[in-house]
Amino acid sequence: MHRFLNAFLHVLWPVSCPVCGRLGEVLCAECAASLFLSPPLSRCLCCGGLFPCGRHPGAPRIRSASPYNEKIKSVIFALKYGGLRAIGQHLGAAMASLWERPDTDLLLPVPLHRGSTRGYNQAFEIARGLGRVWDMKAADTIQWTRRLPRRTGLNREERQALRSDDFIIPKQLRGLRVVLVDDICTTGATLTRLAAACKEAGVSVTGAYTVASVS
Ligand SMILES: [Zn+2]
Ligand SMILES: [Zn+2]
Repeated sequence: MHRFLNAFLHVLWPVSCPVCGRLGEVLCAECAASLFLSPPLSRCLCCGGLFPCGRHPGAPRIRSASPYNEKIKSVIFALKYGGLRAIGQHLGAAMASLWERPDTDLLLPVPLHRGSTRGYNQAFEIARGLGRVWDMKAADTIQWTRRLPRRTGLNREERQALRSDDFIIPKQLRGLRVVLVDDICTTGATLTRLAAACKEAGVSVTGAYTVASVS
């Protein structure tokens, strides 16, 4: 049904920039450049709290390119629900210039939920954009162990209840140094649990990157 609706909308309206509405642009260069003007934000990858974290000194951090504002919201909405897959790589490439290339082997996106009808993982697209600029491979190899309700439908307590065994970490990742990638950091629970699952599987997570951070 979603796919049909997307195809239908596509015929009615050609591609346009989700920020300024310019036709024929999936995200125009001026708008991409205007997305990340505020200083990047940092949170603790052990608990999702402010960085540096009093409870977890020395913890790796979640780096977010922007606060979650109206502009970012429209771009991420177009990426996730508007079928505009190409926006992901534009975002990733634009974000990459905010930080030095991390000294790691691989970019690991948060996986798409089982049963999602999206057809592509938006976090993987963002990771590929980052990887293009940083000359680093991105691999969409992690999986959720079970079906979950759509994340947008989870409240804070339900997100915190995600467990580290919610993820299947492939054995080939053991011994690698990786950074995680997602579109939005809301409570930080998904990233902290994924980082914990990686650690249990012998994968060293040195940080995480997201487009936006909600708080
Ligand atoms: Zn634009
Ligand atoms: Zn912490």
